[in-house]
Amino acid sequence: MFTTSGFDRIGEENAFAVLARAEALKAAGLDVINLGIGQPDFRTPEHIVEAAVKALRDGHHGYTPAPGIAPLREAVAADISRRHGVEADPGLVLIVPGGKVTMFMAILMFGEPGAEILYPDPGFPIYRSMIDFTGARPIGIPLREQRGFAVAAEDVAGLLTDRTRLIILNSPGNPTGGVTPRPEIDALVGVLAERPDIAILSDEIYDQFLFDGCEHVTLLGYPEIRDRLILLNGWSKTYAMTGWRLGYAIWPEGLFDKARKLAVNCYSCVNAPAQWAGIAALEGPQDAVLAMVGEFDRRRSLIVDGLNAIDGLSCAAPHGAFYAFANITRTGWRAKALASTLLEETGVATIGGPDFGDAGEGFIRFSYASSRENIAAALTRLGRFLDSRLQTATSA
Ligand code: PLP
Repeated sequence: MFTTSGFDRIGEENAFAVLARAEALKAAGLDVINLGIGQPDFRTPEHIVEAAVKALRDGHHGYTPAPGIAPLREAVAADISRRHGVEADPGLVLIVPGGKVTMFMAILMFGEPGAEILYPDPGFPIYRSMIDFTGARPIGIPLREQRGFAVAAEDVAGLLTDRTRLIILNSPGNPTGGVTPRPEIDALVGVLAERPDIAILSDEIYDQFLFDGCEHVTLLGYPEIRDRLILLNGWSKTYAMTGWRLGYAIWPEGLFDKARKLAVNCYSCVNAPAQWAGIAALEGPQDAVLAMVGEFDRRRSLIVDGLNAIDGLSCAAPHGAFYAFANITRTGWRAKALASTLLEETGVATIGGPDFGDAGEGFIRFSYASSRENIAAALTRLGRFLDSRLQTATSA
């Protein structure tokens, strides 16, 4: 009846469908443990909430400049310099309603029929969905379990063509927790330095979620690619602020104004009190962030050990983010079927690997952003479920 453009190709994020199903089962009386959705189960720290309340009381009720309020853009630049030792121009900081918006803008800017865009597979599903939407050709960069799901520079080199317009990178990564180490990033930058016609979107939203002494290597630290690097980051994960819808990007000078115009066309500016809260987050005490990451580390050990103790499952310890990407191939199940049966029969919500790309078959993602009690209970249910199915299969 209607003619629309590209909407037969746009995808979505199955984590939200799983969340809706989990909520429905809970409402129907099932005891649900949600290890599906990727959001910290902590409250936003109190001083950040207070800053938003104060902003409302102080009368920050109107539009702000489209790129964000000046003190927030300056706070972002100062935070980058403090944490990474790299200079960022506050004039190139664009405040956005959530990190996702930056990938939307970048992919819209470079995607069109005939163009190729490289994205991590398995990876955050919106990359692929938006690439498809623009009509560009999606080219998956394979992330392999044997390499800890890190990007391999030689894989990228082999995938570049004269049609490549944009490459998307994400370390620490969702859904794998993989962290690409510095030597590999050096090699990758070496490859990309040869191709000044390709833009780079570096999604570093999990940059503070690192374990086992791993370091975060920001692509902002490589001057040879700064003129085409789009950095994606935000407050959602680090400060447990997923519902506030607050993120930022650092755009290269040649692209900033295009992104600003997209902002003006789409949402005008970000919610004003949330922006004031963002300043409090960056400039205030960071102990809540450290405590949260410490707790995630303890949960990580619990879930990885627990998964490895279950017959048919294996899980290499992820070095970053808050996801365990477990190999389920020895169970004989297809990943999506296992994830949905687990939810319906045991109340444990997880996400099947194929929801993150074709290379995700054989894996299930567990978000360990849930209490240790919940994780322990989920592991018990999972073990019992697989055990009972194994017994049924053996006795049949
Ligand atoms: N990038 C990655 C890799 C993510 O996992 C997520 C959220 O899950 C986002 C970006 C989006 O973050 P936000 O909620 O700030 O839009």
